[in-house]
Amino acid sequence: MSPRSEDQVPENAPEHCPGPESQNAGQADACAGCPNQTICASAPKGPDPDIATITARLEPVKHKILVLSGKGGVGKSSFTSQLAFALAHDEDSQVGVMDIDICGPSIPTIMGLEGEQIHQSNSGWQPVFVQDNLAVMSIAFMLPNKDDAVIWRGPKKNGLIKQFLRDVDWGELDFLLVDTPPGTSDEHLSVASFLKDSGIDGAVIITTPQEVALQDVRKEIDFCRKAKIPILGLVENMSGFVCPSCHGESVIFPPTTGGAEALAKELNIELLGKIPLDPRVAKSCDMGLSFLDEHPDSPACEAYEAIIDRLRDIIEQ
Ligand code: SF4
Repeated sequence: MSPRSEDQVPENAPEHCPGPESQNAGQADACAGCPNQTICASAPKGPDPDIATITARLEPVKHKILVLSGKGGVGKSSFTSQLAFALAHDEDSQVGVMDIDICGPSIPTIMGLEGEQIHQSNSGWQPVFVQDNLAVMSIAFMLPNKDDAVIWRGPKKNGLIKQFLRDVDWGELDFLLVDTPPGTSDEHLSVASFLKDSGIDGAVIITTPQEVALQDVRKEIDFCRKAKIPILGLVENMSGFVCPSCHGESVIFPPTTGGAEALAKELNIELLGKIPLDPRVAKSCDMGLSFLDEHPDSPACEAYEAIIDRLRDIIEQ
């Protein structure tokens, strides 16, 4: 299934197209040289009507949480999946995961849904269920082959994100977790603007302890502040290696500048916790299993659970 062609951004628009409905359409710097310049400059302007549709669609979703990271490879999608599994432990909670990491959608593999496809009904696109109270929607479900690269430019990617938010029939949810691409890109801006009226509880930012990762976290925090997305807290992943047998701890990525703890203090945000590196996390993710169920007595599981409990307290307070 491919995205509908009715997305408001034309196929031939340049990457940083502000959108034909924006006030400066046809006059923005990004519009210079665009073949649609004359039409866009004279087209009617105003709020995007899809934002009201998205707001109505997500009205039955109580909490919306973004999971962000400054860099790839820091365990953002692993964290999203474990958070989802943990929240879904409560049989009375309905949980959804929306994977908008368009260029590297890994949630289906991590949550055991590889090869699944999206189905459509009269009420919209149906997410795929991991269990009765845990549903997932991912761009990966639209790819004929999991090894296919998604080579889409900004406008088309943003159109798909809008369509995910507008057309997926989540039903009533207690939590919707949005797994975003690494960094601060057009996709993040799109999510922030599409959800501006439906309300985002906030963002959890995942990092590793070394300075090279923390530098990008600073940009992520700056982005959240500019986009007025509340920051729920910071999680330091791969924070030392705890041997699964003897539980002895060794440092893998030295926190030369104080790690996430120092950064959280400096930027006045909460450090939700530190998760040690445990090779069994990667193994569980590769097999599409919940690490928390597989290894409930491990130090990494304890760390995950403490973070998730704290997050739940922050959201539900
Ligand atoms: S003229 Fe500007 S707003 Fe219109 S399609 Fe081109 S880049 Fe987008």
